[in-house]
Amino acid sequence: MIPYGHQCIETDDIDAVVQVLQGDWLTTGPLVDKFESALCTYTGACHGIAVNSATSALDIAVQALRMPLGSEIITTPFTFAATNNALLFNGMHPVFADIQKATRNIDPEDIRKRITKKTTAIMYVDYAGHPCDIDEIHEIADEHDLFLIEDAAHALGASYKGKKVGTFADVTVFSFHPVKPITTGEGGAALTDDPRIAENMRLLRSHGIIKENRSTKDQDIAWQYDMTMLGRNYRLSDIQAALGLSQLKKIDRFIEKRNSLATLYQEKLRDISFIELPQTKSDVFHGWHLYTVIMKGVSRNSFFGHMRNNGIGVNVHYIPTYQLSYYKKNVATDISKYPVTEELFKKIITLPLYPTMKESDIDKVEATIKNFDR
Ligand SMILES: *Cc1c(COP(=O)(O)O)cnc(C)c1O
Repeated sequence: MIPYGHQCIETDDIDAVVQVLQGDWLTTGPLVDKFESALCTYTGACHGIAVNSATSALDIAVQALRMPLGSEIITTPFTFAATNNALLFNGMHPVFADIQKATRNIDPEDIRKRITKKTTAIMYVDYAGHPCDIDEIHEIADEHDLFLIEDAAHALGASYKGKKVGTFADVTVFSFHPVKPITTGEGGAALTDDPRIAENMRLLRSHGIIKENRSTKDQDIAWQYDMTMLGRNYRLSDIQAALGLSQLKKIDRFIEKRNSLATLYQEKLRDISFIELPQTKSDVFHGWHLYTVIMKGVSRNSFFGHMRNNGIGVNVHYIPTYQLSYYKKNVATDISKYPVTEELFKKIITLPLYPTMKESDIDKVEATIKNFDR
């Protein structure tokens, strides 16, 4: 089976991890600091907080903004459940906006229609690694004094108008799950330029505990600590940070490879009548975390079965969040207001794309698509 996504682990990645295992620090230590600095250097952000998943990063991002309970956050339904779950964890109310067919990203025009007096933030996802319409979203946020949270789980290494994803929102979140642009096994990070938000997120990562006296010379009080926020243990280990540091050195090579494979798909699939290819806006550099196509005049589900039966690990990204049972029960949403999301949900399919994929794998995907008996 050719999977839809896969990590790329090389000898130096393995060596980096083994070296940590031979040392004294296993949990959060000097390599986590180094990894955070490297993420900041790469993206241009001021503060980075590495955690054990993007799900945790989204949680501390929402919590750190200290928005009133019941605030309405405008967000995309066309994403992995974790995006919107972070709002529910924190007593926020997700208000979905529809998406744009070409990029599958949230539609700024539809965001405008959903704003009320209770709206406090917009949480958007750079779907497949294609950055959203950042300027338009910023304009709305400025007009209505809203926070921005960018779920960039797909988009490390992508850019918008020549600037890397990582500094556009109040908080930007990355994922280091194995199928994502780089991996730490499990892991994530939240980046911000605001020192107070950074401080809150750093506390929330580790129990909300402050150890101001840890480095004091006064041994009578060196044991003292306090807890000022209700935090959890979301820490990343130094073992994982070593892998992250090693992987981050290769991110540009990985993204270039993803771009050249995507270009190959565009060339090879251009003339297939029952497939509509993804589009890239001219002002972005695409991260190509996912390569998704839209089925035209044929059943997506039959095509899905055909591909899977022939060893091609296709997938569907995503079931709209409001269609999930938990959301149906707990977040009332009028599905008729999301025509583009509904259409894509019925017709979209993800083809395999990952940095270790070979041209011969692309050939196999192409041949299998062409064998589809409609
Ligand atoms: C993968 C993903 C997440 C969650 O990432 P984890 O690191 O697995 O917690 C969140 N949002 C989106 C859009 C994702 O694709």
